[in-house]
Amino acid sequence: PLNTTDLIEEHRICVCVRARPLNKKELTTKDLDVITVPSKDVVMVHEPKQKVDLTRYLENQTFRFDYAFDDSTTNEMVYRFTARPLVETIFERGMATCFAYGQTGSGKTHTMGGDFSGKNQDCSKGIYALAAREVFVMLGKPNYKKLDLQVFATFFEIYSGKVFDLLNRKAKLRVLEDGKQQVQVVGLQEKEVKCTEDVLRLIEVGNSCRTSGQTSANAHSSRSHAVFQIILRRRGKMHGKFSLIDLAGNERGADTSSADRQTRLEGAEINKSLLALKECIRALGRNKPHTPFRASKLTQVLRDSFIGENSRTCMIATISPGMASCENTLNTLRYLSLDG
Ligand code: ADP
Ligand code: MG
Repeated sequence: PLNTTDLIEEHRICVCVRARPLNKKELTTKDLDVITVPSKDVVMVHEPKQKVDLTRYLENQTFRFDYAFDDSTTNEMVYRFTARPLVETIFERGMATCFAYGQTGSGKTHTMGGDFSGKNQDCSKGIYALAAREVFVMLGKPNYKKLDLQVFATFFEIYSGKVFDLLNRKAKLRVLEDGKQQVQVVGLQEKEVKCTEDVLRLIEVGNSCRTSGQTSANAHSSRSHAVFQIILRRRGKMHGKFSLIDLAGNERGADTSSADRQTRLEGAEINKSLLALKECIRALGRNKPHTPFRASKLTQVLRDSFIGENSRTCMIATISPGMASCENTLNTLRYLSLDG
């Protein structure tokens, strides 16, 4: 099992899991809840209906994390324990990164972006917005006020190894690496934001850009990583950066045997980037020579967030509670242990 103390102190990583409630579709198909969160840092995957025998399941289907959030936990609560402690990092000239990882439909976008179900597009309760709000509160504190910081936001998508600007009509962007391994996304729009409302507008623009023209559950957005960044600048120079990432669905295993070549390639690309991500997180702040940043576009563009002295990251795994999702859920929980 995960030694969380080691992880927090040495790697500066916080690893959490969040279960959502059974949704309409699962209730219609009479799917059964197989997830229990018996304490604030443990999640159990068990057989349905059966009375949960703690002593039995603690042995084989139990996973321990820094925090485990059950299906009654609000976004604000998740935020408080995950992204919020990282906001201070960027004021202290650090790099912060927060990922949502999990299968399609498990709640990544709900957690990061907000509630986009049905007609109510409310992004004010997503972690993007909650973090932005905190940034503006911190800016007003005497210590930071005197630094005269400016706030900027970017929002882009990585799809099949290519980068698209969500704040500029999905313009395709090039990624360049100079001789000093500095990575630059050429032409990425960095919009100055003066208040939380400015940020909410950008999230809405980016999100509608991301999902436009999508119809199926196998839609583009489930196969792309969305990266939202809050950047602090002081006299034009970067002071700190917070990257918040809604990762592509991790259920791509089946894709690798798909008849469709494009789908196979996309699946392979996603698997590759998620594996590279795991390696990079494990190497966080250690400046290891063999960290595979270049193994995927995702880790390449996030490189500067992993290597800094003052880098911190948080991983939120989202899981579906249904028995039908059990295999994906177990894969997600195993990935999070970050070993192997
Ligand atoms: P993903 O981005 O991982 O594919 P979504 O965030 O789109 O998944 O969530 C799938 C559906 O489940 C959406 O309709 C969303 O509103 C709902 N949902 C996700 N998480 C929760 C939650 N914690 N509470 C209530 N509904 C949720
Ligand atoms: Mg999503």
